[in-house]
Amino acid sequence: MKTSISLKPTIFVIFGGTGDLNMRKLAPALYNLYSDGYMPQKYAIIGTARKKLTDQKFRDVLMEGVNSFSRTGKVKKEKWSKFAESVHYTSVDVSAPETFKSLKDDIEKYQQEFGPGTQVVYYLAVAPSLFPLIAKCLSDYKLAGDEESCRIVIEKPFGRDLETAKELNQLLTSIFTEKQIYRIDHYLGKETVQNIMAFRFANSLLEPLWNRTYIDHVQISVTEQLGVGDRGGYYESAGALRDMIQNHILQLLCLIGMETPINFDADEIRNKKVDVLKAMRPFSPDDIRFSTVRGQYTKGWVEGKEVPGYRHENGVNPDSNTETFAAIKFFVDNWRWQGIPFYVRTGKRLFQTSSLITIQFKDVPHQIFPAAVTEHWQQNRLIISIQPEMSIRLQVQAKRPGLDMVLNPVDMVFDYKGTYTTETPEAYETLLLDVMTGDQTQFMRADQVESAWELLMPVVNAWESKKSLSFPNYTADSWGPEDAEALIARDGFHWFTLPLNKD
Ligand code: NAP
Repeated sequence: MKTSISLKPTIFVIFGGTGDLNMRKLAPALYNLYSDGYMPQKYAIIGTARKKLTDQKFRDVLMEGVNSFSRTGKVKKEKWSKFAESVHYTSVDVSAPETFKSLKDDIEKYQQEFGPGTQVVYYLAVAPSLFPLIAKCLSDYKLAGDEESCRIVIEKPFGRDLETAKELNQLLTSIFTEKQIYRIDHYLGKETVQNIMAFRFANSLLEPLWNRTYIDHVQISVTEQLGVGDRGGYYESAGALRDMIQNHILQLLCLIGMETPINFDADEIRNKKVDVLKAMRPFSPDDIRFSTVRGQYTKGWVEGKEVPGYRHENGVNPDSNTETFAAIKFFVDNWRWQGIPFYVRTGKRLFQTSSLITIQFKDVPHQIFPAAVTEHWQQNRLIISIQPEMSIRLQVQAKRPGLDMVLNPVDMVFDYKGTYTTETPEAYETLLLDVMTGDQTQFMRADQVESAWELLMPVVNAWESKKSLSFPNYTADSWGPEDAEALIARDGFHWFTLPLNKD
C-alpha cells in the first residue's frame, strides 16, 4: 500500500496485447495511472501477440479500448498522445520461441535507454495453456532477471485443480523467485475489498465482537445478472466453483476470517490469510451431499428480453454438466470461528448483480420488549457491499418515532459516494501500481492458491464425476436453485440481499 510514489523506470510487457483483458482493463488502467501521475518518469509498454501490427495501429486499437472501457470516459487527446509515445508493439508467437528474439532486442534497447535500475514487468494476459511456454521462453532468453529487476504477473485461472496449480507453481518457481511472481485476483484490488482490512483492524470496537461468541453466521454472496455470453467455451471448462469460489470468494472469506496481523507486511498478511484456508474444515462425502448445492440456468426472461438457457449458449455442450451456480456451507475450525457457518453462493443469470458480505450477530440474550413492539425484530447485521453499491451498513434496532413504543431495524450507512468526492480507482489500477512498486500484499502466494484448491478438490471431483440429473434447475432472473435456499433455511437463516437500486 502506497503513501508516496517514486517509481523506477519500467518496461511493461503485455503478452496478449491485442486481447480482451488488455482492451477492457489493462490499457485503461495504465492510461489512468499515467493521467493521475502514477506512472514512472521513464516507461515503455510493449504489447505482444501473434498478429502483425505497427506501433501506431496498436496505439489506435488501445485507444479504442480505453475510450470504450475507461472509468474516466474518452481519452484527452493531448494526454493520450504523450502516453502513447511510450506504447509499442512487437509480434510474438509464444509457441514459436524464435519470435522472442525481437522482444529481447526491444527490452534490451529500453534497458539501455532507461539506465540502471530499470525493472521489467511481464503481464501474462493470455490463455493459461500459454503460461508455461512464456515462462520457459523468458528463461531460455535470459529475460527472467532477478528479484529487483523483474516481475511476472499471472492472470486467473491459476491451474484448473490442485495438481495443475502445483505444476504451474513448480515451473514458475524454477525460473522466478516467489518475490517475482504476482498471481492476480482482481477482487483483491477493489476499494471496498481493501477496506475490509482497514475496517477490521483500524477500529477497536469491532475486534471484541468478531468471533463465535457474538457472530452467528457469515454470508458471502456474489451474484451476476449476466449469463456466460460469448465466453461459453471458457466457462464450460471452469464453472462457478473454479471461476468464483476457488479464488475471489475464498479470498473474501479469508479477509473476514483472518486473525489480526502484527503489521502491514505483505507476507505477514498472507500468512494470516493462509491460516484461515488451512483451518477450513475438509469436506467429507456427507458434507458434499448436505453442505453444497450446484445449479445451472435454463432459459427465461430478463428485463423483458428472452434469454437462452446455459446449454444453448455459444460454445456450450447441449448436455453440459457445468455448474453456473454454487452454494456452499464452510466451517473454519479454530478458536475464533468454531461452529460458525460461512455460507457462500455465486451464480450467473440471477436476479441481481451484487457482491455482499453479511455478518449476522447473535440475538440479544434476553428480550425485555413485549412481542407487540418487536414484530419487525431483526438481529444486528453488518453488511459490506462490494459492488455495485459501495457501502458498509450496520443494521441496528431503533424506536420508531411516535407515542407508541415500536421497534424496527434501521441502517447506519457508510456510503462511499456520499462520503468521498474523489473517484474510486479501478482494481487493475491499484494492482498494476502494486506490481510496479513491488508490493505483493494483494496478490496470491503459492501456498494460498494451493490451499484453496486443496479445500475444494473433493467438491470439484464429486461434481465432475457425478452428473447432475436435475440440471438445468433454475430459471434466469431467479435467485438460483431452491436447494440453495434450503441449505441456509435448514439452519434458520435466509440469504440476505440489498433492495434493488432503481437509479
Ligand atoms: P483473449 O481476448 O482471447 O486474448 C488472448 C490474447 O492472446 C490475444 O491477444 C491473442 O492474440 C494472444 N495469443 C493467443 N495465442 C497466442 C500465441 N500463440 N502467441 C502469442 N499471443 C497469443 O483473452 P482475454 O479475455 O484477454 O484473457 C486473457 C487471460 O486473462 C486469460 O487467462 C483469462 O482467463 C484472463 N482474464 C480475462 C478477463 C477478461 O475480462 N477478459 C478477466 C479476468 C481474467 P493473437 O491471436 O493475435 O495472437
